[in-house]
Amino acid sequence: MPLYTADALVLRTYKLGEADRIVVFLTADRGKKRGVAKSARRPRSRFTGALEPLTHVRVAYFEKETRELVSLNYAEPVRSPLSAPGEAVHYASYFAELIDEWAPADDPNETLYRLGASVVDAMALGTSPELLARYFEYWVLRLEGLYPATDVCPACRRPLSGGAVLVPGAWHYICDECGHGGPRLSAAAITFLRHAATRTPVEVSTASASPGVLRELERAHHHLIATHLEKELRSTRVVKELRPSP
Ligand SMILES: [Zn+2]
Repeated sequence: MPLYTADALVLRTYKLGEADRIVVFLTADRGKKRGVAKSARRPRSRFTGALEPLTHVRVAYFEKETRELVSLNYAEPVRSPLSAPGEAVHYASYFAELIDEWAPADDPNETLYRLGASVVDAMALGTSPELLARYFEYWVLRLEGLYPATDVCPACRRPLSGGAVLVPGAWHYICDECGHGGPRLSAAAITFLRHAATRTPVEVSTASASPGVLRELERAHHHLIATHLEKELRSTRVVKELRPSP
């Protein structure tokens, strides 16, 4: 039975039996895996502190070709996304759920891994998780080639720098002259997206985006993600419910 070691991001865990956990994790080199962490629910387990969602870990696991579940030998935390208590934990769960939905099992996706790991770094440095959420949504969609163009309106070729409207159920932003009714992005939201296109997650903390701009992006991105996944994510609702009502 070969032993693999890898950098990985913990995506979620489930209870198994009396004392074990099943851990879903995205490795840097071999895609998403599911494995058994023996005795992970016992006190002083060797997995303590390593299995929270979005923790960057160093793992070792055995894999048998005939078994769907790998067997985790160890998981050592390298970096936790939780620099401070509070809402960050819910955002960490949201990012982990999004990666889980995005990554098919056993399909290597180093770019998605790197994106996730760099978001963990930015969170650990205290970057606003809400800012990172909009950045992260932009990039997961873009890595799949799904993010709509933000340069010109596909209907009339006018530039979209003054604002754009997302066509419901479609993958286009169009100008205000050509359409209305879908989630709208202001000029400031378009500027944020252009910054996101060329910056790392840590650098995005210097982008200025008002709470209103972040809400515009949230509405458009959740529409795109729900259209792609054909469902609403569980943790999206949790994050929304935490927010004080305006
Ligand atoms: Zn137009």
